[in-house]
Amino acid sequence: MPIRNRLAELHPEVTAWRHHLHEHPELMYEVHETAAFVVERLKEMGADDIVTGIGRTGVVATIKGRGPGRTIGLRADMDALPIHEASGVDYPSKTPGVMHACGHDGHTAILLGAAKYLSETRNFDGNVVLIFQPAEEGGAGGRAMCEDGLMDRWKIDEVYGLHNAPGVPVGTFAIRPGALMASADEFEIVVTGKGGHAAVPHDAIDTTLVAAQIVVSLQSVVARTINPLHRVVLTVGTFQTDSAASNIIAHTVRMRGTVRTLENASRALAEKRIREIATHTAAAFGATAEVTWENGYPVTVNHEAETAFAVEAARAVSPNVIDNAEPIMPAEDFSFMLEERPGAYMFLGNGDTAQCHHPAYRFDDDAIPLGASWFVELVERRLGAKG
Ligand SMILES: [Zn+2]
Ligand SMILES: [Zn+2]
Repeated sequence: MPIRNRLAELHPEVTAWRHHLHEHPELMYEVHETAAFVVERLKEMGADDIVTGIGRTGVVATIKGRGPGRTIGLRADMDALPIHEASGVDYPSKTPGVMHACGHDGHTAILLGAAKYLSETRNFDGNVVLIFQPAEEGGAGGRAMCEDGLMDRWKIDEVYGLHNAPGVPVGTFAIRPGALMASADEFEIVVTGKGGHAAVPHDAIDTTLVAAQIVVSLQSVVARTINPLHRVVLTVGTFQTDSAASNIIAHTVRMRGTVRTLENASRALAEKRIREIATHTAAAFGATAEVTWENGYPVTVNHEAETAFAVEAARAVSPNVIDNAEPIMPAEDFSFMLEERPGAYMFLGNGDTAQCHHPAYRFDDDAIPLGASWFVELVERRLGAKG
């Protein structure tokens, strides 16, 4: 595989960085040691203009090319998950209950490896902006960095990122133009009826019965409201009554759920119907329902032209490039960056391991030079060296 010699040479060093990060996982925005480690490596390799504290704990650095030109943003995520590691690696997490179970240690190492190569060679015109973000796992660190002016302040023209993909062979790249990953919104419904004695239902309003009707009816949003050619998942994940005994009719039921879609237009429609079904169903039984909706990550939408560039760069690295991959329903907060600038998000094969977010998940270090080569190819092809 055409991994550049220098990136092959750097493999042991970058792997050691990855293992260090793996042993010291940090959650959400609290990625202080990780950010400090990234800054140290960037200083050593001579990256320009290293800035910390973007999006609270994010790190941004620039690698200046030979002359004026466009600016490409390359992004990695730094945060881990609240999972107790059971992967069996010989460099396990030293923080009980916290684990790099999504491979963000690998993403950070890959981008550092590419950065080292690009700092040494600078075989391009324009600038490369390295983006290391916190809080990908539910904290919208990508949005926080954008809100701190990431795209305008660094004059980024286009932006790229990657995620490892368990189940896809190492050496395979997979991507598609358009929607690649779903949006993830959350809702809470609090239903209030009238509690009472289980044997005297006519003096009560059975909130559990009302709430159960709502749960069943909510599935009609997917089945009957959404265009069948659009993809939506609606799941009610929690359902709690305030009754603690079999002979008590609940007064209140609280449920929480999530809506995933691949079309941003479906999000507003789903929200509207969830509100209507919950409040009107409750009213039909003499109860009330209060609906809270929280917009989460938007759909991750790859831009056409940039996806084509991403494919071209991947083909320079590996013969195994899938350019029409199936979209998947997990969400990704790189989506916020793709809403601000054209760009693309690539899946990098991680071989036969447990899935992301599983305690037995393992990042495959053999993917490091492949991912780093892809970043390097993108930069050199987009910024002049290979026209
Ligand atoms: Zn994850
Ligand atoms: Zn992830």
